[in-house]
Amino acid sequence: MEELYHGPYKIDISQVLDKLRVFSARRVLIQAPLGFRGIAAKLAVLLADRGFTPVLSNSACWGGCDIAYSEAEQVKADAILHLGHSPFMRRDKIPTVYVECRYADPSPLMNMLPKIREALKGVSVIGLGASVQWLDHITLLASYLEDNGISTRIAKPSMFAMHNAQVLGCDYSGLKQLEADVDAFIVLGSIFHALGIALISSKTTYAVDPITQTVKELGDYRRRILMQRYANIQKFAEASKVGVVVSTKPGQMRSGLAVLLAHVLRDNGKHATIIATDEIDDKLITEYPFEAYVNTACPRISVEDQARYAKPVLLPAECLAALRLLSWEDIINKGLLMLPWGWSGEASNIFWKILNASRSEREEVGIV
Ligand code: SF4
Repeated sequence: MEELYHGPYKIDISQVLDKLRVFSARRVLIQAPLGFRGIAAKLAVLLADRGFTPVLSNSACWGGCDIAYSEAEQVKADAILHLGHSPFMRRDKIPTVYVECRYADPSPLMNMLPKIREALKGVSVIGLGASVQWLDHITLLASYLEDNGISTRIAKPSMFAMHNAQVLGCDYSGLKQLEADVDAFIVLGSIFHALGIALISSKTTYAVDPITQTVKELGDYRRRILMQRYANIQKFAEASKVGVVVSTKPGQMRSGLAVLLAHVLRDNGKHATIIATDEIDDKLITEYPFEAYVNTACPRISVEDQARYAKPVLLPAECLAALRLLSWEDIINKGLLMLPWGWSGEASNIFWKILNASRSEREEVGIV
C-alpha cells in the first residue's frame, strides 16, 4: 500500500490510482477546497509521474455538494479527484474519486482527553459526531469517555453523511436521532461543525477542536445567532421586493423549493423573483435591488455570512415565519431552522405542509 502524508493528513495513494484505473481515466481534474490545495498540487505531480494528465481546479469548492462536473466537462477530464469531503451526491455525472484527507495522528486529541472529561461534569450520556477529517479517532474518544463513566452514542449515517459519526454543516440527522437518549452532544472537529446541531437542538453542545486544543460549550453562541436570525426575520417582514436564491451547484440546487417559495411570497403580498447563481456573495446581495433574500442553497451561507450583509438572507423556514405561516417557537422548539437541510423527521412535515398547501390552492385555480 502506498500512502502520502501531507501535514496532518494521510492519503491512500494505491486506492486513488486503482479507482482512476477502474474508470480508465487519463485526464483528471483535481478539485480541492482552500486548505487542501497543497495536497492537490502534490497529487498533480504524483499523477503526472504515473502517466496521467492532471488539471488543477482553481474554482471555489465548499463541500461534497459542490463537485466540478461542468468544469471537468470543459477541460475534457475523464474523472474528477475531489479532496477533503466524502461522497454527497447520490450519483456522479462524471466518475469521481473522493479523497477524504483524514487526520493521521490522534495525539492532539489524546492530549486533551482529560480536558474534555472535565468539561462534561454532570453529563451521563453523550451523543458523538465528528467532521470527516476526525472520523478515524472517534472510537478513541468514545472509549475514553466510557472508561470514565460517560455512556456514549454514536451518530448513524442517514441523510448526506455516509459514515458512522459523521456530521456535515448541513446534515445533523444522525445526532438528531439520538436527541431523546442523550444529555448533550460533542462534535469533534470545529465550532462550525458543532454549531449546526446546537442550532437545531436544545441539548447542550460541545465543540471539541484538537487543533486549537479547545472545548467550547456553544450555548451563548447559539443564543447570539438565534437573536440575529430573529432580527432579520422582522426586517424581512417589512420588505416588499424579495430575491429567492437558487444554487446551480449540483448538490445545493433546490429549484422546486425556490419556485414554491416564490409563489408563497407572492400569495402573501411580496414581489418575488428567483435568482440562479453559483456563488452567493456581496455582489449578488448588494447589486440586485431586492430588500431581502431567501436562500435555498447551503444553509450555512445564511448562518455564517449574514453578519456581512446589510439585507436579510433568510432560510426557507425563516421566510415562512416572516410571512406568519410558521411560528418562531416551532422553528426553535422543533429544530426546523435549517430545513429542508439539517435533518428530516416527522417534525419537518409542518414545513412541507405549509408550502404544499399553498400549491394545492394554486392548482385548484390553475396557477402552478
Ligand atoms: S450544502 Fe453547505 S454544509 Fe452541506 S456539504 Fe455543501 S457546503 Fe457543506
